[in-house]
Amino acid sequence: CGIVGYVGPRQSQGILLSGLSRLEYRGYDSAGIAVIDGDGDLGMRKRAGKLAILRDDLADHPLADGTTGIGHTRWATHGGPTDANAHPHLADDDKLAVIHNGIVENYAALKAELVGEGYEFRSETDTEVAAVLLGREYRANGGDLVAAFRTTVNKLEGAFTLLALHTDHPGLVVGARRNSPLVIGLGEGENFLGSDVAAFVEHTRKALAIGQDEIVAIRPDSVEVTDFSGAPVEVEPFDVTWDA
Ligand code: GLU
Repeated sequence: CGIVGYVGPRQSQGILLSGLSRLEYRGYDSAGIAVIDGDGDLGMRKRAGKLAILRDDLADHPLADGTTGIGHTRWATHGGPTDANAHPHLADDDKLAVIHNGIVENYAALKAELVGEGYEFRSETDTEVAAVLLGREYRANGGDLVAAFRTTVNKLEGAFTLLALHTDHPGLVVGARRNSPLVIGLGEGENFLGSDVAAFVEHTRKALAIGQDEIVAIRPDSVEVTDFSGAPVEVEPFDVTWDA
């Protein structure tokens, strides 16, 4: 339901949690974050219920912080509102984390294919199918996250804003959108992704709207937008003028 991503020099957990709290107005039933920590390991925490439950859990059992992260608030469509069904969903030996807004309409066929190949699932969500598929494509192409992400989104039908990060690529968050919104926030030596500008407007008011069927790769000093075939797309920045 709500999505936020961060790459830059700052520790990301506080940025993710405050972005998610600014998206709370949309309604949600679960929340979670994934961070690539200072050792290059993936930390992930997700909880059914209010954001305060996730915050308290993180306060009681801190997760090592890191400067690349993604956060999600979920409005369950496939699988009830449980900890296991909350996002992020992990794949590729828990080195890859994915969050998703929307519905992957063809998830059942894709899941059957992946189960047939021996992949295991830990949730009832349509989203985990996208995560496992991305992990498979990533292994198949030898570790090009953006290319694997492109192959993956081309296999998905329905509506999605999808974000992913992988511990092999600290300082990179990839995103895509089809029939669901995604906006880039441009900072100084840092960049943001959000399902709407509320996710990052406290940090920057310079934004880029991602078009239908486009992919973005954000790094601390760069933003690359392509279409689903990999061709570069020119995007014009705009200034967020409303008060958030
Ligand atoms: N369909 C996904 C799920 O049920 C994502 C729902 C959402 O947009 O939050 O987990």
